[in-house]
Amino acid sequence: MEIDVDNFIERVRTILRDPEYTDLRNRVEQFLLDLVSRDHSETYAIDHRNNDELNLSVALVSATRERGLRSRLFIYLRDKYEKELGALSATELGDRVNELGMDASYSIDSDLYELPFYIFIRYTPHLSGPYYRLTFQRLRRGFVTVTKEMLIKVSREAFVDYLRMLSVAAEENKIQDFSGFPRGFPDTLVNLYRAGSDSSSQLAGHIEPDDFPPCVKEMIKQIRDGVNLSHMARFAIVGFLHNIGASNKVIMGVFKQAPDFNESMTKYQVDHITGLTSGTEYSPPRCLVLQSNHLCYKEGDTLCNQEWLKHPLQYYKIKNKARLKNKKESETV
Ligand code: SF4
Repeated sequence: MEIDVDNFIERVRTILRDPEYTDLRNRVEQFLLDLVSRDHSETYAIDHRNNDELNLSVALVSATRERGLRSRLFIYLRDKYEKELGALSATELGDRVNELGMDASYSIDSDLYELPFYIFIRYTPHLSGPYYRLTFQRLRRGFVTVTKEMLIKVSREAFVDYLRMLSVAAEENKIQDFSGFPRGFPDTLVNLYRAGSDSSSQLAGHIEPDDFPPCVKEMIKQIRDGVNLSHMARFAIVGFLHNIGASNKVIMGVFKQAPDFNESMTKYQVDHITGLTSGTEYSPPRCLVLQSNHLCYKEGDTLCNQEWLKHPLQYYKIKNKARLKNKKESETV
């Protein structure tokens, strides 16, 4: 789907300056403050079907340039959209997703939908499971046949793509005059968000994120930035965090920030890798394996560049030991 950039920008600018939209601005302000402070709270909500509320929220969050905050907004809107689709009748669903250019058609006889294959492959790369691979589909005259559940998942991805396009347009057109909001409002959002992220990055009292190796730091940062990680990267993060003592709940909290976060799927994988359901507690891959999968980010890190360093857990143990030693010494001075 393409967006009408000029129309979007003009509409946001009108909402920002016109007194007629004071109530709407107040609603969006309360919603964003709530979103940065409490993550997915329903105390204040915006209606994702209200284009003005959605457009203004996306423009404001894009102005902060805080990728993690943008992901949080997208996840909120995506989940609302998915829930809405799930409650629609078969024909209503087809109409609604076609507003996004899905070009889906419903067959009463089969109770299934036909979707152009190019739409299917465009929006499925981040969906897990064989159902979402083209090789498992029966392709007829350029269409694949999907169930209601599949159509909702694919449309959900298309909706996130649409949000991304709005965000890029807002950034490129530099919407920065937010005088209808309290002074410095985008900075307030960033500060509140970072304060919340810092406390959540404490993970647990005995875990020290500053001692993580560059590869793990980078992969966690990528989750917060909205990058969809490979299976190997996810496996490495879960294995690493579990082996340094993070609970499964804490590990889930890290993945919750991912744009494609799927609670039941993540829980299944975390419980499997940590041995809860599989009986085997996996370790993260060795440096050599991470390097061959382009997941090593050691660059100029002194410790990583030691020939004897073979494993991310080895890195953490050494760093953590040195930190505790320094702390002890400074306490006795
Ligand atoms: S050398 Fe090992 S620990 Fe360091 S960044 Fe690369 S994979 Fe991670």
